[in-house]
Amino acid sequence: MKAIQVRAVGGPEALELVDLPVPEPKEHEALVEIKAIGVNFIDVYFREGRYPSQTPFTVGQEAAGVVGKVGAGVRNVKVGDRVAYTGLQGSYAEYAVVDATRLVVIPEKLDFEQAAAAMLQGMTAHYLVNDSYPLAAGETSLIHAAAGGVGLLLVQMAKNIGAQVIGTAGSEEKVALAREAGADEVINYSTHDFEAETKRLTGGKGVHVVYDGVGRTTFDKDLEVLRPRGYLVLFGGASGAVPPFDPILLSRKGSLFLTRPTLAHYIATRAELEHRASGVLGDIVSGKLKLRVGHKYALADAQQAHRDLEGRKTTGKVLLIP
Ligand code: NDP
Repeated sequence: MKAIQVRAVGGPEALELVDLPVPEPKEHEALVEIKAIGVNFIDVYFREGRYPSQTPFTVGQEAAGVVGKVGAGVRNVKVGDRVAYTGLQGSYAEYAVVDATRLVVIPEKLDFEQAAAAMLQGMTAHYLVNDSYPLAAGETSLIHAAAGGVGLLLVQMAKNIGAQVIGTAGSEEKVALAREAGADEVINYSTHDFEAETKRLTGGKGVHVVYDGVGRTTFDKDLEVLRPRGYLVLFGGASGAVPPFDPILLSRKGSLFLTRPTLAHYIATRAELEHRASGVLGDIVSGKLKLRVGHKYALADAQQAHRDLEGRKTTGKVLLIP
C-alpha cells in the first residue's frame, strides 16, 4: 500500500511517498481501508519534530473509510462498516490498523469526505466552546484564524450558542468566509491591529474569551483584549509556539485564566468520544453545522498540502484522497 512517511523530521520535503505492506489487525484492532484523510496543523508539528515521534512514522491523525478486517474481541464494528476516527497516528495511507474502540460509525447521510473533515476539527471546536470555556448566550468571544478548519466550525458553534463573535482572518477572502459562517465582526489582522479593533468593537470592555490557535503572534495582545477574569483558551500555535511567560501577567491584566487544552483529553473515554462525535456529526446531518472542504489533494501530493496549509493559503478543511 502507499503511505506518507517521515524518516527525518523537517520541512514539507520530509513527507515521503513509500510502499508498505498492508498491516494485519491484532486483538481489539480493525483494519480500515481509507477513503478520505484529514490534514491538520498537528501533522505539521509532528513532521517538523515540534511534537516528538519515533522515526520512521506514517503521518496523519484522521481518516474515514471501510472496515476491511477485525481482530479478535472487536465488538463495536464489523467488516463493511463505514467508519471515521481521529487521534491515532498513521492516517496518510491507503490502509491503517487502529484500536477499534476509537472508531465511530458514520451516519448514513454523510459521505467519507464529510466524515474525515469533521472528526478532529469538529470535535475540537465542540470541546472548546462547551468545555474548555463553556461559552454562554450573550457573551462576546474572539476567535482567531476564523476562516481556518477549526475556525469556521468554532464560529458556527459559538453563534449557535447565541454568543457574539469577533473573528480575525489574514485576507479579505478569509474575512468574507468568516462572515458567511456567521461572525458578527471580522478583523483582517494582516492590515489592522486586532487589539485596537477589539477594544473599539467592545466599547473598551474587552471579550469574555479568546479562542487562539495562532499562538506566538497573537498571545500578547490576547491578554490586552480580555475583560477582567476573562479566559484565554490557547489551543495551538500555527504561527509558532508561545515563549515562556510569567504568570503574574495574568494577575496584572485582570485575574485572567489561561488554559492550553488538547483534544485527546476531551475524548479520552468511549462515552465522551461518542457524545462529541454524535453531537458534531448529527449537527452536520441536520444542517446546523456546515462543513467547508476547501482543498483536496491526492495522497501523493501531501507535500503540497502542507506547503499550502503552512503558507496560509487554505480555508476550511484540507483533505488527502488515497
Ligand atoms: P487552519 O486551517 O486554521 O490553518 C492555520 C491558520 O492559522 C492559517 O490559515 C492562518 O489563517 C493562521 N495563521 C496565522 N499566522 C500563521 C502563520 N504564521 N503560519 C501559518 N498559519 C498562520 O488549521 P487547523 O484548523 O488545522 O488548526 C488551527 C489551530 O488549531 C492550529 O494551531 C492547530 O494546532 C490547533 N488545533 C488544536 C487542537 C487542540 O485540541 N489543541 C486540535 C485541532 C487543532 P489566517 O491567514 O487567517 O491568519
